[in-house]
Amino acid sequence: MKAIFKEHEGEGMEMKEVPEPTNPGPDEVIVKVKRVSICGTDVHIYNWDEWAASRIKPPIIVGHEFAGEIVEKGEAVQGLEVGDYVAAESHIYCGHCYQCRTGRAHVCQNLKILGVDVDGAFAEYIKIPARILWRVSPEIDPNYASVMEPFGNAIHTVTVEDLTGRTVLITGAGPIGIMAIQVAKVEGASLVIVSEVKDYRIELAKRNGADVVINPMEKDLIKEVKKLTSGEGVDAFFEMSGNADAFRQGLESLTPGGMASVLGVFHGDSVCFDINNLLTFKGIRMYGITGRRIFETWRIADQLLKSKRVDMSKVVTHVLPFEEWRKGMDLMRKGQSGKVVLEVS
Ligand SMILES: [Zn+2]
Ligand SMILES: [Zn+2]
Repeated sequence: MKAIFKEHEGEGMEMKEVPEPTNPGPDEVIVKVKRVSICGTDVHIYNWDEWAASRIKPPIIVGHEFAGEIVEKGEAVQGLEVGDYVAAESHIYCGHCYQCRTGRAHVCQNLKILGVDVDGAFAEYIKIPARILWRVSPEIDPNYASVMEPFGNAIHTVTVEDLTGRTVLITGAGPIGIMAIQVAKVEGASLVIVSEVKDYRIELAKRNGADVVINPMEKDLIKEVKKLTSGEGVDAFFEMSGNADAFRQGLESLTPGGMASVLGVFHGDSVCFDINNLLTFKGIRMYGITGRRIFETWRIADQLLKSKRVDMSKVVTHVLPFEEWRKGMDLMRKGQSGKVVLEVS
């Protein structure tokens, strides 16, 4: 079968022929992959940045966002059948550590990530533990089922607290940022302001329903947010850029007693900010967001896509044949896309 492979350390990836997976273990299934989508994580692995160099052990099949159909299952697998239409939680949680046993499997102590720690989904078939699969509603287009995993990140970030009638600032309009705009609107936010520097992404943010998009290189973000919120600042701040200035500006833009959810991943090991004035004395609540609440956010993602309350056609900007994965990777590397989906079968 064809698979996209990280063969060696250093920049790049290759598509090559590898043997199909066979003999699922008692708790495993084999899925025929229909669609995959390219994540920022895959770009990091392609570029071989500091994070990738410290984490990835080639050779490995990359990719973790996919949708497909079960073609074989182990004898102990329950609740799933051959022919089921599925997507997968990329976090392979252990199921027995303290976190897993107390409803926090997304921060499992023995976490393995698909396409990072074990062979991933950029292949025609994948063999994986059945427990990480989500059965997708049949009404959902496979192109959109493929992006349910990052969509779950957006839902996790935005739904930590009630947003009804609240004003919101989102920093960063990458794929998850633009999904977050739509989720915030569905959740009842009264105003969604987005901060973004790239022209392509400014347009994407507008198309996904942002009320105001501000380029912080051209305008003073904090002043503009204050102006738009009668001098109060926003009630909720969602950090999705991984940019230290955006993080600090977001906290400055927040109203005292407001809340911040931080999904962005920052380069280097520390970001300095004024804890006294931006956190403690401001009395804000700050949440670190990683992964998805398993499987609560999956259920929400499924229902929002099935009902079309979230329009994923505004997020998936490119659908390409599997063989044209390099073109997709280039678009992602340049920030000239929303989600890029590849048609595997
Ligand atoms: Zn991802
Ligand atoms: Zn665990």
